[in-house]
Amino acid sequence: MGMRVEPVDELTETQQRARLLLDDIERQRERQVRERREGRKQAKLDPRLVAGIKACTPKQLKEVMRVVRNNLRDYKRPPELRDIRLFRNSKLLAHAPYKNKLYCMELHPCGKANCQKCPHGPYYIAYQRDGRYYRPKSEPNFSKLPKPIREAFEPIRAALKKKAAGQT
Ligand SMILES: [Zn+2]
Repeated sequence: MGMRVEPVDELTETQQRARLLLDDIERQRERQVRERREGRKQAKLDPRLVAGIKACTPKQLKEVMRVVRNNLRDYKRPPELRDIRLFRNSKLLAHAPYKNKLYCMELHPCGKANCQKCPHGPYYIAYQRDGRYYRPKSEPNFSKLPKPIREAFEPIRAALKKKAAGQT
């Protein structure tokens, strides 16, 4: 007497368990993403990659070394134009490779309806390999670019300035 018996709602319990499981999976995924991001900076290897290497035969390890050497060599090469993904709607004015980077001179439309200054720029973006991708890095200003790139871009830059001056 006096003890309350709660009826067990099985569906709710199942749903709750599913919720907990999903929460757990989400937390695990977040942790993995965080670890991968932090690991990149410290050159830490994914434990699955290490396990994979440890499972290799000597013959397979030689193949691993060949893949590694080729991949390292690719880091020294600038990307081709087809390798990179330009900023959306970006208009490419010129591009030139230097060392391991591909420098692009781009105009960026901002997309605002009443913008009088569109497209904006020119911006100088250096594309460089970063893992599987080519990371775009915006260069602060023209004078900071490597000399061969400045020389390649200078005539286009001058023509653009002339055109802008003619419009005002
Ligand atoms: Zn604009």
